Amino acid sequence: MPFLFASMAKEKNNFFITTAIDYVNGEPHLGHALEKIQADAIARYFRLSGKDVFFLTGADENSLKNVRAAEKEGIAVEDFVDKNTKKFKSLKDFLDLSFNDFIRTTEERHIKGAQKLWQECAKKGDICKGIYEGLYCVGCEAYLTPEELKNGCCPEHQTPPEQIKEENYFFRLSQYQKQIQEIIENDKLKIIPQTRKNEILSFVKSGLKDICVSRSNGRAKNWGISVPDDDTQKIWCWFDALGNYITALGYGGNSEKFEKYWQKGEVLHCIGKGISRFHAVYWLGILLSAGLRLPDKIFVHGYITVDGQKMSKSLGNVINPFELVEKYAQKIGNKEATVDAVRYYLLAAILSTEDGDFTYEKFEEKYNADLAKGIGNLVARVLTLATKLKSENENLKFTSRNSKLEEIKSKYNKAFEEFDFYGALGAIWELIGWCDKIIDTEKPWENRGNSKEVIGDLLLVLTEIAELLKPFLPRTSEKISEQIKTGQGEPLFPRI
Ligand SMILES: [Zn+2]
Repeated sequence: MPFLFASMAKEKNNFFITTAIDYVNGEPHLGHALEKIQADAIARYFRLSGKDVFFLTGADENSLKNVRAAEKEGIAVEDFVDKNTKKFKSLKDFLDLSFNDFIRTTEERHIKGAQKLWQECAKKGDICKGIYEGLYCVGCEAYLTPEELKNGCCPEHQTPPEQIKEENYFFRLSQYQKQIQEIIENDKLKIIPQTRKNEILSFVKSGLKDICVSRSNGRAKNWGISVPDDDTQKIWCWFDALGNYITALGYGGNSEKFEKYWQKGEVLHCIGKGISRFHAVYWLGILLSAGLRLPDKIFVHGYITVDGQKMSKSLGNVINPFELVEKYAQKIGNKEATVDAVRYYLLAAILSTEDGDFTYEKFEEKYNADLAKGIGNLVARVLTLATKLKSENENLKFTSRNSKLEEIKSKYNKAFEEFDFYGALGAIWELIGWCDKIIDTEKPWENRGNSKEVIGDLLLVLTEIAELLKPFLPRTSEKISEQIKTGQGEPLFPRI
């Protein structure tokens, strides 16, 4: 694709993209799938543009949430996190994810790196002892202030936080307030979208306090990474978890990848809106303290609601991505098509930076309208016309309809640079509609003399559509290219 991604050429060729590492206190749900699929589309897009991409995801196993969930099930924490982490890892096959590494925060490489990061901050004089007296939400694994509560509860979890008083270590975040503000204001760390940047800035401007970064072994239930030189305390799981982005690359050990992708690469974190403060403020403070490079961009996505409601166990409306794929693989009779259909829905029906809704009805409607009827129908129509022409021993002719293609590609690339998948896919579907219109108006089956040109053009545009689909629907893209070559094939998306 010589000119497709040409506009993306940038200086830094090494590109490091991460998702949040998930708490494994439960099974993955559709919200986890959304983030992984978004990051996957970005990783694939930049690979196609010629970048050397390293795509990382993983599991946060050191949190207290995991301990409590394991206790509830009555099994050892190690076995519990093992079991759930496997499920998160297996999203790879179920959603066709192309990540290069999956880090678990209980791995030796992570423990070593997280402790080194702590020591670097301590050397700088940014870690010191103090008494923490205040509130803690185990759901968030975060310290809260009374002002942050809504009706006495954590706004994210709607549960009352715990009152805590103990001697812990603190990280001197307040030292970095000015620097952090300046970095975000000037987009040295670019936060996408602007609304999230504004939120973070107003949080920073309201004054950064030092943060508590450890807990007693008792409160940690003896689970987690020990504070270096003090085995009575465990590192607060966020301090350790944020470090995964560099420990996975070898920070604290063999650091070849760390140098390549972190220190010399372009770094993008993909996260949900609930944890932007940890990434855009706390993580920045830690990196500044340790004297490490900062990430370039943070892309913040919204949440998925189900029929307008937040997904929650108590409401019983949690969508499990494995069950979703299995259910429609049965209904549609094709697992590959189903995986791409799920990817399509999450990327095309939901604005990437906003909350979006899922229902089975909406999923089926979108499937039938855009996939079965839209792309599926177009590919079948064009191939039928081309086969008919071939059977009449006519040679195809190609004329130029490049201006429309150029217009679409520039829309597509522009949308992608802003991580606007909805916009990028919208551009492809505009092209699909444009092809349908050509067929309807030119009626190449009537053989008006220009049929060879029309069909030749349509095949050319289909080839381009397959290219443009690659980051989003990789299997479908392959199938279209194959069908163009062989002139035959099954329907891409049988109607539901
Ligand atoms: Zn909470």
